[in-house]
Amino acid sequence: MGLTKSSTGRRAGGELTDFSRLREGRQLVALAGNPNVGKSTVFNRLTHMNQHTGNWPGKTVTSAQGLCRTEKRELVLVDIPGTYSLMAHSAEEEVARDFICFGGAEAVVVVCDATCLERNMNLALQTMEISRRVLLCVNLLDEAEKKQIRLDLPLLSRRLGVPVIGVSARQKSSRTALLQALDRLLDGPEQRDSYRVRYPAPVEEAVARLLPLAEAAVRGRLDARFLCLRLLEGDEKLLDGADRYLDGALSRQGELLLAAEKERLALAARGIDRDGLEDLLVSALVMAGEELCHGVVRLDREGYSLRDRRIDRVLTGRRLGYPLMALLLAGVFYLTIAGANLPSDLLMGALFRLQERLAALMAALGAPPWLRGVLVDGAYRVLAWVTAVMLPPMAIFFPLFTLLEDAGYLPRVAYNLDRPFQRCAACGKQALTMAMGFGCNAAGVVGCRIIDSERERLLAVLTNSFVPCNGRFPTLIALLGMFFVGSASGSLSTLLSALLLTLLILLGVGTTFAATRLLSATVLKGVPSSFVLELPPYRRPQLLRVLVRSVLDRTLFVLGRAAAVAAPAGALLWLLANLRLGGESLLALAAGFLDPLGRLMGMDGAILLAFLLGFPANEIVFPIIIMIYTAQGSLSQLGDLAQIKALLLGQGWTWSTALCVMLFSLLHWPCSTTVLTVRKETGSLKWTAAAVLLPTAAGFLACTLTAAFTQLLGI
Ligand code: GDP
Repeated sequence: MGLTKSSTGRRAGGELTDFSRLREGRQLVALAGNPNVGKSTVFNRLTHMNQHTGNWPGKTVTSAQGLCRTEKRELVLVDIPGTYSLMAHSAEEEVARDFICFGGAEAVVVVCDATCLERNMNLALQTMEISRRVLLCVNLLDEAEKKQIRLDLPLLSRRLGVPVIGVSARQKSSRTALLQALDRLLDGPEQRDSYRVRYPAPVEEAVARLLPLAEAAVRGRLDARFLCLRLLEGDEKLLDGADRYLDGALSRQGELLLAAEKERLALAARGIDRDGLEDLLVSALVMAGEELCHGVVRLDREGYSLRDRRIDRVLTGRRLGYPLMALLLAGVFYLTIAGANLPSDLLMGALFRLQERLAALMAALGAPPWLRGVLVDGAYRVLAWVTAVMLPPMAIFFPLFTLLEDAGYLPRVAYNLDRPFQRCAACGKQALTMAMGFGCNAAGVVGCRIIDSERERLLAVLTNSFVPCNGRFPTLIALLGMFFVGSASGSLSTLLSALLLTLLILLGVGTTFAATRLLSATVLKGVPSSFVLELPPYRRPQLLRVLVRSVLDRTLFVLGRAAAVAAPAGALLWLLANLRLGGESLLALAAGFLDPLGRLMGMDGAILLAFLLGFPANEIVFPIIIMIYTAQGSLSQLGDLAQIKALLLGQGWTWSTALCVMLFSLLHWPCSTTVLTVRKETGSLKWTAAAVLLPTAAGFLACTLTAAFTQLLGI
């Protein structure tokens, strides 16, 4: 059998293995659970940290660790990816299982959803097969109560032979109970007699024969019965990992490996091959879960989710599903644009006034002109622009988006889009990763880990940047406002902008479908896999929490990242604009070089150069365009959009130029962070190159065709 030392391929969440910083002799406790059971909420409650929470399955794809102080000890708590099982079919399942097996956790807390306990038993039972210290934390008791689901948790605890604690993690009071339960768990003995799933006779017999040999190999460092089951499955990845974990003890146990091979052959001879065995194991687990929950879960009122189903009939209905989706999107944009206009203008005015003061101050201090140029006209000016233009829309967009997420609408979007994605031979979950891309494409690419099939994951990764991230919205909104809304007044112009932006986003979504389809018909051929998309219950979002979290986690994070890039980029730009070669600035030379290609694409060399220089972050593309145009110092101050429009018109912009810039902003290479993330997630240069080339080619085509078309028509 293949117990090689080879790498096991892509290791999503490889970060799970490094605890040196926090560990320092502290005990390690893992937090496991199905997706969307409130695991992050429990984690935050215990560690006082602020992991992102949201009401849809699959968002915890990376893992967090934090310190948790109980009465008796300080622990390191590790939030592992949410999974339904530990069978390692997907990257998260593999990470979760590997961590529980080899991560060195003293104990595992399995967080379950009280409203569907039976389905959560699968993961709990599998965890109990590996770990000897398990605590079942049944969360969402308040929801269960609302739905009139009664739970007999002491009975479940007796049946399982492990402690079971019921909580509503959203409530602060749950913390003490959880901490005490953790102390009891870690003080108590190992759970030698906890419930064990009994598998069909041929499997149990084979395990019994292998057990003594396996026990000799693991010497208590790994559960021997669990290892026997994986040996029977021939799960090479896990066995490789186990071998490394046991310092080669497994590959040295030739007798065990031979015996396992023999047992596998014997099972195959009885018609139980690898797939058949897995089916047997899974159905035994499911049946055990049902039996265990029998009498533990009582439903006092049938049809408890009637309200949810009614809402779903509308939001996911055939007729209304799509229009409502577009309407909600347009609504979010409307509120964003309407709310951001005034603060953006005020901020811009204030920050540019400050620029003059700064320049005057530096002059008074006797700073040389070049230093003033680099710091004030370069670094400060781009930073001011990015802050003024990005902060207000983000501070509105992110909370709105998070509200929809927290209420449970995002999975409905995935449900609605499942059919079209299936038609493109892709997975409906791609809709969720697409939605994440609205915030940040790099986050969207990481989010693709929720897709099990490698092929479908690649499709989602390669097409993620077709939806514009938040860094691109401000440019789109500004250009729409300047060139397309025209003289429409006040709220009418906002409405028009919102509708046009929605159309543009829908174009991005359409391109995502087209590109997905193209890829799945050519280089990534295959049949779409079926998956169960869970529609979580609608929950009333926690307004305050949503607000605080989306402003702190998302808005300030994205802004901080943009600012970190904007200031040095601004300084560099100033230098490029002021260093001269043969009488021309480097910037002008580069723009001139790119001009023919830029013109072909309906733009100009300066714009193309700005897109290239904006590779570190899309947010800075538009300010760079302006800087290049104003590089000669002809314009010292840009107080509002009207002045900027005048500047652009002066450079020969028409509405067709603006359209091409918007198209290219929608369709071009992803930013450097996203590219690095794609490289990390796919582990392949080839696919990384594809992720860059695909949107770039689409953008080139779209712009060139638009330019040719408008020229042909003479408009
Ligand atoms: P995870 O995917 O398991 O990490 O789940 P999250 O912690 O992100 O929680 C999913 C959703 O359930 C979020 O909207 C939470 O606010 C909500 N939630 C978590 N715990 C509770 C609870 O005890 N009661 C209620 N009503 N909602 C909860």
